[in-house]
Amino acid sequence: PYQVLVVGQGPAGVSAAIYLARKGIRTGLVGERFGGQVNDTLAIENLISVPHTDGPKLAADLRAHASAYEIDIIDGVKATELVPGEQVEVKVGDEASLRADAVVLATGARWRHMNVPGEDEYRNKGVTYCPHCDGPLFKGKDVAVIGGGNSGAEAALDLAGVARHVTVLEFAPTCKADQILLDRLDASPNVDILTNAAASEVVGDGSQVTALRYTDRASGQPHELALDGIFVQIGLVPNTEWLKGVVGLDNRGQIVVDAKGATDVPRVFAAGDCTDVPYKQIVVATGAGATAGLSSWESLIRTAVP
Ligand code: FAD
Repeated sequence: PYQVLVVGQGPAGVSAAIYLARKGIRTGLVGERFGGQVNDTLAIENLISVPHTDGPKLAADLRAHASAYEIDIIDGVKATELVPGEQVEVKVGDEASLRADAVVLATGARWRHMNVPGEDEYRNKGVTYCPHCDGPLFKGKDVAVIGGGNSGAEAALDLAGVARHVTVLEFAPTCKADQILLDRLDASPNVDILTNAAASEVVGDGSQVTALRYTDRASGQPHELALDGIFVQIGLVPNTEWLKGVVGLDNRGQIVVDAKGATDVPRVFAAGDCTDVPYKQIVVATGAGATAGLSSWESLIRTAVP
C-alpha cells in the first residue's frame, strides 16, 4: 500500500505528488489521462513565469517533473469508488483496488458542451470555454457568450473590455446571473443580451468560426450571427460522480474543502477543479495541490505509530 495515493494526474494531482515525494512519502499517482484538461488547450500564457507554452508541452513537462521523483505513476486508471477507513481504499475499474493511509482527490472537471454541430470541429478555432485563457485572442473582434448565468455574465463583462462587441445568448426567458452583473451588462455599450435563444450550429470557413446559428424559441425563427469567437459558459462539471454519498459535495457536485484542502472524510484531501475552490486555473490548481499534498503529509506524521 501507498502512504498517500493521489487520484488524478492533472496540474493539481502532479503538484500534490511532487510535494509528497519530496517529503519521502511513498506516493502513487493514478489517473485516466496524464495532464488532464491541459491536453485540450493550445496556448497557455498565464502560467506565471512561463510566458508561453501549450497544452501538450505542459502535459509532457508535468510528466517529466513527476518522473524526476520516486513516484509510482500508473496511467489509464479510472477510480470508481472510495471506501473510507483505517486505510482508505480506492476501487479502480471493476475488480482492483488500491489502498493508502491518506488520499488526495484531484479528478478535475470538464466543461459542459452545447452539443451542436460544428462545436467540436471549431474547438480552439473560435469555440472556447475559458475567457481568462482565451479572451485576449479576440481583441477588437465580435464574440458571443453562450449562457446568461453568473459565469456567462462575468465572461461577457470581461470580454466587453477586450472585444469589439459581445452578444450573450441565454436559452431561458431570463438570465439567471446576479442583478448587479446584469446591471453592469446593461450599462455596457458593446454588449447585447438575447434571451430565449437556443444555439443550433457553429458555422465556420473550415479553419475559423465565422457565425453562430440560433433559434428564437419564442417565435421559432432561425437566425445567424456573424462573429469570430464563441465562449461557452454553461457550466463546469466536476468529475466527482464516483464520490457521491461518501465525500461531502456542494450542490454543484464540487468537493467541499477547507483552507487545508481537507474533505469531511478523515485523511481524504482534495485539490483543483474538482473542489469548491474559486477560480479554475492551472496556477490555482497547482497551488491547491501543494496544499493538499502538505496537509496529507501532516495528517500522516500526526497519526500515532502502531
Ligand atoms: P484536470 O486538469 O481536469 O485533471 C484531472 C485529472 O483527473 C486527469 O488526469 C483525469 O484523467 C483524472 N480523472 C478524472 N476522473 C477520474 C477518475 N474517476 N479516476 C481517475 N482519474 C480521473 N487554465 C489556465 O490557467 N490557463 C489556460 O490557458 C487554460 N486554458 C484552458 C483551456 C481549455 C480548453 C481547458 C479545458 C482548460 C483550460 N484551463 C486553463 C483550465 C485548466 O486546464 C484547469 O484549471 C486545470 O487543468 C485543473 O487542474 P486539475 O488537476 O484540477 O484537473
